[in-house]
Amino acid sequence: MSQRDDFTGNVVGVEQEVIVREVTCKTILNRCSIGDYSLNCYTGCAHACAHCYARVMQRFHPHAEPWGTFVDVKINAVETLKRQLRRAEPGEVFLSSACDGWQPIEARYGLTRRCCELLLERDFRLNVLTKSDLVVRDFDVFRDRPVRVGITLTTLDERLRELWEPRAVSVRRRLEVIKTARRIGLKTAVMFGPLLPGLSDTPESIDALCRQAATLEIDTIWVDALNPRPRVWPAVADLLRAEFPQLLPHYRRVLFDAACRKQYLAELRTRIERAARRAGLTDRVAACM
Ligand code: SF4
Repeated sequence: MSQRDDFTGNVVGVEQEVIVREVTCKTILNRCSIGDYSLNCYTGCAHACAHCYARVMQRFHPHAEPWGTFVDVKINAVETLKRQLRRAEPGEVFLSSACDGWQPIEARYGLTRRCCELLLERDFRLNVLTKSDLVVRDFDVFRDRPVRVGITLTTLDERLRELWEPRAVSVRRRLEVIKTARRIGLKTAVMFGPLLPGLSDTPESIDALCRQAATLEIDTIWVDALNPRPRVWPAVADLLRAEFPQLLPHYRRVLFDAACRKQYLAELRTRIERAARRAGLTDRVAACM
C-alpha cells in the first residue's frame, strides 16, 4: 500500500454491518515477499477473522471502526493497474496479502476480477488465496491460464470456524472451491493456518486436515502457526476470554515466552511432518513457521 493513497473517502453505504467507503490509490501492484507482487483492491476485510494479520493495516490507515467492520474500495484500482502495467515486468502476483480479494463487496465492484483479467492478458501468473467461494465466479477468466487457486482453512470444525472467522464462508463451501478448480484443471493450494493452539493444532486436527488435502489431491499445502503479529493479540485474547478462558495461559506461553514458543514450534513441525507422511503428502507440504 502506498502511504500517499487517498484514504479520506466518503461512506457510500453500509452492507451487512460493514461501512463501505470509496477511496483512490496511487499504486495497486506492489512488490511483495510472497511471489513477486501483491495486489489488494480493498483495505479492510468484512470476513472479520479474529486472528487476522492484516489488522496491522490500521496502523497506516487508521479507522474509527474496529477491524472487520469497514472496507475501503480502491475505486480507481483498474486504471491504476493499467498505468503500472506499462512498466511492470511480468511475474507472480499474490491475491491478496492484506484483504480477501473475493470478500462480499467484490460481488458488487468486480475490481479483483478486472485486475486479474488485465494481469493475465499481460502474462502475469496469479497465486490466489481466499476464504470465499465468490472466486468461482472468475474461473472463466482463470481457465487454461497460469493461476493457482488456494483456500485458507484454520480448522475443519464449523463451530470453531464460525467463532474465529464469523463472516467467511463455511469450510464446506471452501472445499467446493477446490473441487471446482480441480475439475477445470487449475492448480490448487491450501493454507492451513493459523493453527490455533489447543484447538486446531492437535495431532488429530492436523491429521484430519492432511487427510482432507489428500482426498482433494491438492497440489500445494502450506501450514502456519499463530503468530503474535501487531494488533492480533487483543482480538485473540477477547475471543479466548469469552469462549475458551482456560486456554489463555497456554496462548500467552506459546506466543510470548521465547523458550516455550521455540519448543512449541518444534513440536508442531513434528506433528505436521508425521501427519503429512501418514496422508502421503510429504512432497507437497511446507511449514511456513
Ligand atoms: S479473510 Fe484474511 S484478510 Fe480477511 S479478515 Fe480473514 S484473515 Fe483477514
